[in-house]
Amino acid sequence: IAAWMHEAGMHTWTDNVANVHGRIRGQNVTAPALVIGSHYDTVKDAGKFDGALGILAGIAAVKALVIQTAIKSEILTYEQAESIAAGAASVLQLLNRADVDALVSSPVEVVAFCDEEGLSFQTTLLGSRALAGSLLAPTNLLNSRNSEGLSVKQVLQQHGYNPAEDVVSNIALTADQVRAYIEVHLEQGPVLEAAGKPLGVVSAIAAPHSWSNARSAVTPHGSFERQASSYQASRCLSPQGHAGTVPMAIRRDPLAAAAEAINMIEQQCAGGQLAGMMQSMPNVKQAARSVWDPSLVCTVGALSVWPGASNVIAGATNFSVDIRQAHGPPQKPNGQPSSQLDETPVLVSGAGHDGLAMADLTQLGIACAYCIAAVQIGMLFVRCRGGISHSPQEYVSDEDVGRATTALYTFLAALLQ
Ligand SMILES: [Zn+2]
Repeated sequence: IAAWMHEAGMHTWTDNVANVHGRIRGQNVTAPALVIGSHYDTVKDAGKFDGALGILAGIAAVKALVIQTAIKSEILTYEQAESIAAGAASVLQLLNRADVDALVSSPVEVVAFCDEEGLSFQTTLLGSRALAGSLLAPTNLLNSRNSEGLSVKQVLQQHGYNPAEDVVSNIALTADQVRAYIEVHLEQGPVLEAAGKPLGVVSAIAAPHSWSNARSAVTPHGSFERQASSYQASRCLSPQGHAGTVPMAIRRDPLAAAAEAINMIEQQCAGGQLAGMMQSMPNVKQAARSVWDPSLVCTVGALSVWPGASNVIAGATNFSVDIRQAHGPPQKPNGQPSSQLDETPVLVSGAGHDGLAMADLTQLGIACAYCIAAVQIGMLFVRCRGGISHSPQEYVSDEDVGRATTALYTFLAALLQ
């Protein structure tokens, strides 16, 4: 990634949580930077576009901006530009670094974030949280452990990084160092394809909420408690029993209880009974609890039964509960609506993204979840085939990759030339 950034003419470095940065300093080196970000990790058995698309679109758009501006400034010929495009030369072989930095008015930086998906440590957005200042507080996520018992800190150390708290806290940007944050990402859903549009503007991100510390409910079949210590896990418990000898009237079958609970979650979520659902979720803003929001989605995606034998009444079931809702009502994009913008779909993201962590940036560099973002955050979604993501079948056409990169380039040119 750093080599691609370097080829585009950027200064590159890797910070101590393994984010890769590339920057064009601009004529005014101390001005707030326009930050373009996305993540370089993905899930198991994944596709090749989730995350990577946004990094490559960012690098390509900055490279195009450098080349186009250099041609306009007459420090690069069309023939030289073509040799860069053909891969026969790099920007810095043909231009000196100071000239490249001076091609844009203020800094532009591409950040390739580490560990957005949280696959190893069950903690998402590690790299972007470090940049936004929310990696160490309110919870020090460097202490999150993987299935081998190793912490984020230990794994970073093993790979030659220095994840000491004072070093990591210095990675954080403050809001006055960032002009805006923008991210290009495949949609991971079917809306744009159905609308016949290659690109869409994201108005809000529906982040997962934890049910930790939520109050318990009791079903006729057994106790239904939400594990206070684990993230989004629910558990039904009862003494296990013999399938042939325990009369139905006195059974408290945790699997039947889980089935009822899962049914209730789906019905209440789909039926718009948001107020009742949200009442038990301490992280949700008071105002959001009383209004039904179509962005609310709830999923039970994992279920385990103990001991899991056909002739034993289960003793325990564990299941995940993933609840997502946009932060507040969807907003229209800022700025003067153009006729082109009127035709562009505006949609809510059902998946979490690095832009969500970057919205935590505050003036002080201290995270403040659910505060109004101190920095403008923009996301551009790109159509993907069948809405499929987190799968080897993930696919974005070359044409749509080109459209997304061109849109990003046009945005950069308008802001930075
Ligand atoms: Zn992603």
